[in-house]
Amino acid sequence: MPGVKTTEVECEKCGHRFEATVIDHVDLTEDRDLLKKVKSGKVNRVQCPKCKKVMFLQRSIVINFEPESLIVLYDPAATDSERREELERDYKTVVTYNEVLEEIGEEIDFRIISDLTELKKLVTTYEKNHS
Ligand SMILES: [Zn+2]
Repeated sequence: MPGVKTTEVECEKCGHRFEATVIDHVDLTEDRDLLKKVKSGKVNRVQCPKCKKVMFLQRSIVINFEPESLIVLYDPAATDSERREELERDYKTVVTYNEVLEEIGEEIDFRIISDLTELKKLVTTYEKNHS
């Protein structure tokens, strides 16, 4: 599956270290399953195999709303302006993520969202328009 990678997570309850698959990048034209996960709020939800503790990883995810010229960087930690500015500076890195994004880079609407409710709204609207 595109847009995912494996990372090491430390359980916040028992300290056990384990490998988990996390989502880095979602392309809505390809990853319908990820779309469902985003909607249900289960994105980057991991469970410790040892003590069964469920955790939500504080990671940012890039979501490409193609064919709409909209790219959203969802970051639960982007609640202050300093963090947002930092992310906007990183935008060039995001755009060069793949060649398609690079091509349309000048015309896309780039939004940073830290609120999951806001993200769900966007995803729901997208689903309606492109079902
Ligand atoms: Zn644990």
